Amino acid sequence: MSGVRLESLCKSFGDITAVDNVNLTVADGEFVVLVGPSGCGKTTTLRMLAGLEDCTSGRIFIGERDVTDTHPKDRNIAMVFQSYALYPHKTVAQNLGFALRIAKRPRDEIDRRIQEVAEILDIQDLLDRKPAKLSGGQRQRVAVGRAIIRNPEIFLFDEPLSNLDAKLRTTTRSELIKLHKRLNATMVYVTHDQVEAMTMGDRIVVMEGGLVQQIGTPLEIYDDPDNRFVAGFIGSPAINFLDAQIAVGRSACEARFAGASLKLPKSHPAASRADVVLGVRPEHLLIAPGSGIGVSFQATVETVEHLGAETLVELALDGKALTVRSGRLENLASGQPVEIGVHLENILVFDPGDGQRLRPPNGAEM
Ligand code: ATP
Repeated sequence: MSGVRLESLCKSFGDITAVDNVNLTVADGEFVVLVGPSGCGKTTTLRMLAGLEDCTSGRIFIGERDVTDTHPKDRNIAMVFQSYALYPHKTVAQNLGFALRIAKRPRDEIDRRIQEVAEILDIQDLLDRKPAKLSGGQRQRVAVGRAIIRNPEIFLFDEPLSNLDAKLRTTTRSELIKLHKRLNATMVYVTHDQVEAMTMGDRIVVMEGGLVQQIGTPLEIYDDPDNRFVAGFIGSPAINFLDAQIAVGRSACEARFAGASLKLPKSHPAASRADVVLGVRPEHLLIAPGSGIGVSFQATVETVEHLGAETLVELALDGKALTVRSGRLENLASGQPVEIGVHLENILVFDPGDGQRLRPPNGAEM
């Protein structure tokens, strides 16, 4: 197995910049997920890595090998597509063995590998069936099997679960995670689904507008987003954003919103702005928090959703909706005024213009 390195990778289609200066190192055996909304450039990045698309500029390395100009079949990569692309007239066994037959491997080796792969994926009983007689989940496994059988250096996945229903997506997701552990393989996986990214990736690459917005482990990205886009894209229910006005006093500065005041050190980059946007995750808005909480304000309950173990509450605050995710709450009614509290360390501050995160200076307390 090998790692992957993308250096200053760019791709333009006419005057559309699909991928803009992507730099990424994937370690040997790592599972990296490229995630972002439709059109953000994730598929084009993956296709360049596979060799299915030429780069406009930049270099691609697999291990220490520069493969930028190498033909796809010589890159030792296997790709699993959303459509699975199985041969409809071939059986599962023939689909699995096809790449080895083309490579003119001996018959007994092909048969042995088909059996091994069928066992890994638990599809031994399906080997004589044709794809039309398989469920979506079974087809997906065969598509993965066709990738595994070639023993590639790198596995690429392009939205491989999007044709499955929600329940099957969840089980197949955990099967792929186990498969990654078992094969200890380098995998690059593309999805628009942030839950898939969070649950599957050792690291996540969040993309938007052809640009890498942030690279990190799922929790680094969730807890410490670099900008408003990343904060809003990762997390469900989505993070709450509040507009606040900055007032600078003699020794401190304050971000004011809805009658509340968030004290910031004067050295905080927010002090040089007139306004900021505050971000608070739904689980960090606390209902009736009691005294001693960092910031508190009054809001009104709009709706209450009981999900059993947890409760989602929508609040109205100055005409805007805020979402609270709490443990089970049984005594809240629509229209009820509530006090809401947030611990200071759970408030993220963003520039209202370019959306960049405004972090407190090193060592300064919020
Ligand atoms: P999706 O999830 O919808 O596939 P994506 O994030 O994978 O989106 P890409 O498919 O990489 O995005 O597309 C990035 C941008 O490049 C988009 O604006 C898209 O319209 C454009 N694009 C992609 N392929 C081509 C092409 N062959 N010709 C022209 N423009 C293209």
